Amino acid sequence: MKIVPIPAFNDNYIWLIHDDESAVCVDPGDAAPVLAYLEQKQLDLDAVVLTHHHNDHIGGVAALQAAKPDLAVYGPDDIDCVNHALKEGQELNLLGQVWRVWFVPGHTHNHLAYILRIEGKNRLHVFCGDTLFSAGCGRVFSGTMAELEQSLARFAGLPKDTLFYPAHEYTVSNLRFALSVEPNNEAASKALEAASKIPTLPVNLSHEKAVNPFLRLEAPEIIASIAAKNMPHASSSEVFASLRELKNQF
Ligand SMILES: [Zn+2]
Repeated sequence: MKIVPIPAFNDNYIWLIHDDESAVCVDPGDAAPVLAYLEQKQLDLDAVVLTHHHNDHIGGVAALQAAKPDLAVYGPDDIDCVNHALKEGQELNLLGQVWRVWFVPGHTHNHLAYILRIEGKNRLHVFCGDTLFSAGCGRVFSGTMAELEQSLARFAGLPKDTLFYPAHEYTVSNLRFALSVEPNNEAASKALEAASKIPTLPVNLSHEKAVNPFLRLEAPEIIASIAAKNMPHASSSEVFASLRELKNQF
């Protein structure tokens, strides 16, 4: 099983999972680079899985459906082109593998993540859309701050070697923000030095727990940075909301 990032637009990744014959693609915001890759590698597109309704994640679906009219499109039930609507806890069988569906709202009110376990291997692969980015997280659009905090906390409970496949490469600007609230975080400094080589993705959970301020709500230096700006910091939820607000302005 191979997991390949197909770059799209300025900073999107369309993740393509394939077994050298059939492929599944995650969040095809643009069809052209996907069709070109499928053609080049002689792959048959089995299914599309969608995390949420934003156009940079679904904009290519219509053209992929035009190219393959019986294409299975899985995703949340608020997207018109979805022909297999999904809910929390469902399991899909795609490419002969099990994909568990998690409802992870926050960035949008109806956001899914897909947790792939490749047969014979323990490590989990999470296609997390715009929920988690390396060293950061998505903005809160139609979800709530509490939902996003809870969704990230749920990811944080997965095994440490779990690999995350976010839909964007925002790693450098996220690490600059992380260092602005936690200047002495050596892991974040090292990650910033290493981040000139892209893609920086996927990332594993133990790395994220070391560098991602949104998974480090108890870090004294982060809490002190927020206190110094006179922003709410009395609970982890307040720290989370303050961090998200600071990042919006960063
Ligand atoms: Zn989005």
